[in-house]
Amino acid sequence: MSDKILAVNAGSSSLKFKMFLMPEEEELFSGAADRIGGPGAGEFSYKPTGGEKVKLELDMPDHSVAVDKLLEVLVSSGAIASLDEIKAVGHRVVQGGEYFKESVPATEAHIAVVEQLAPLAPLHNPANILGVRSFQKALPEASQSLIFDTVFHQTMPEINYIFPIDRKYYTENKVRRYGAHGTSHDYVSGESARLLGKDRNSSNVIVAHLGNGASITEIVDGKSVDTSMGFTPTGGLVMGTRSGDMDPTVVTYLQKVENADGDKLSDIVTKKSGLLALSGFSNDMRDVEEAANDANHEHHAESRVAWDLFVKKVANFITLYAADIIAQGKKVDAIAFTAGIGENSTTVRKAVIDRLACLGVKINNQANETRGTVDITGEGSTSKVYVIPTEEELMISRDAYKILKNS
Ligand code: ADP
Repeated sequence: MSDKILAVNAGSSSLKFKMFLMPEEEELFSGAADRIGGPGAGEFSYKPTGGEKVKLELDMPDHSVAVDKLLEVLVSSGAIASLDEIKAVGHRVVQGGEYFKESVPATEAHIAVVEQLAPLAPLHNPANILGVRSFQKALPEASQSLIFDTVFHQTMPEINYIFPIDRKYYTENKVRRYGAHGTSHDYVSGESARLLGKDRNSSNVIVAHLGNGASITEIVDGKSVDTSMGFTPTGGLVMGTRSGDMDPTVVTYLQKVENADGDKLSDIVTKKSGLLALSGFSNDMRDVEEAANDANHEHHAESRVAWDLFVKKVANFITLYAADIIAQGKKVDAIAFTAGIGENSTTVRKAVIDRLACLGVKINNQANETRGTVDITGEGSTSKVYVIPTEEELMISRDAYKILKNS
């Protein structure tokens, strides 16, 4: 028998959702609520698969109003006949710390641990719990489960997660590399293995998840062994508004220059840095790319630097991870691009691959212009190069379905 499963991603002011028919993995419904908690009306949009997208203005003082609206439109659009058709809800949780090594049912004990981990993800974990609470109230009979961004990276060896600072900060304060985008890296590396025609447990893949948030992961024998994001998603690459890695004393110096407390410093490096800061006008790669290519654009020169630095950092991490795979006597089977920039920017992909000449990786320029899941490997390339649209919500649904069946 098939079951309808909701995959939910609750942010501090948003709620994204998709419904799947499982185990067929057929997407039935998707949408999002934005600007929950006001001020003013928020936007609620949804789209039954094969149907028209509907956009509504809606006052949403809290998440439960968005959840109630979602359940209402699921019925009114005919996606479900009654609420008891939704057998399970899978909730994305950003930070699972070292505690969670797999997806789990949303028991009170597990929710309490997610709450305890909130200092490690102050913007995300409390919002994720709000989502769980709203759905528990609205669908008391459905199975609720927690799917963590960090779980996939829990296989990293200590050498790749420990920071070279006093060990007590790790043992007492849990400061270490956790990484993020785990469900995406898991999905894309699994799909890469499928395209390679190899068992995923014996395939070595480097996944470049390049969205507004961006991270690269080294996957050896199917397991994450290193990833570019760090203690929080602010580490690693240059991102839309996040700085990525830089000399840590930049931050302590800025504290003096700006007379800033921790919150303000965090705001600078997470919301006001990256492409936005470098280009001087936008965190959106499409804008930056356009300005970089338009000599008359008022932010042309800065955008050129932003674009070039983004590409260079991506290529640097891929090179680093490829060298690590080769040092283990293994071969880089594939490099896979995903997420907004990875799936859509043919120019970023080409520039990155062109910088990997030292590894013998080559791109097929014609295939690179194609959309969707595509093999863009150039002739004579040492590794396969793929574009694979990510499916984070599908991964959430798979785990939620598995937990439902085991309950
Ligand atoms: P997130 O989920 O982290 O918010 P996405 O994966 O949706 O981000 O990616 C958003 C990014 O993808 C934006 O920087 C956007 O400009 C970029 N993007 C989308 N389409 C294109 C394109 N055709 N060319 C370049 N960048 C693109």
